[in-house]
Amino acid sequence: MKHCNDLVRLLADYVEHQLPSEVHNRLEQHLTRCPDCVTQLKTYQSTVSLLRTIKDDDLPPELRCTLKSFLDRNCSN
Ligand SMILES: [Zn+2]
Repeated sequence: MKHCNDLVRLLADYVEHQLPSEVHNRLEQHLTRCPDCVTQLKTYQSTVSLLRTIKDDDLPPELRCTLKSFLDRNCSN
């Protein structure tokens, strides 16, 4: 799938349900055929839910930085 990179960029919005339904559906269809993108999605989702379960106060600054840069890198892939 040559447009994987384009779709991976959309995963953040997909998880947040911010995509137009047409794009959302296209991404979902792609996910049914592309294990690589499913892996990306799962990684992204678990990172996001991890970030949501911890309060800022509980998180050492350096770890917060690491997670943030992970998400940013994922988004700009
Ligand atoms: Zn893909």
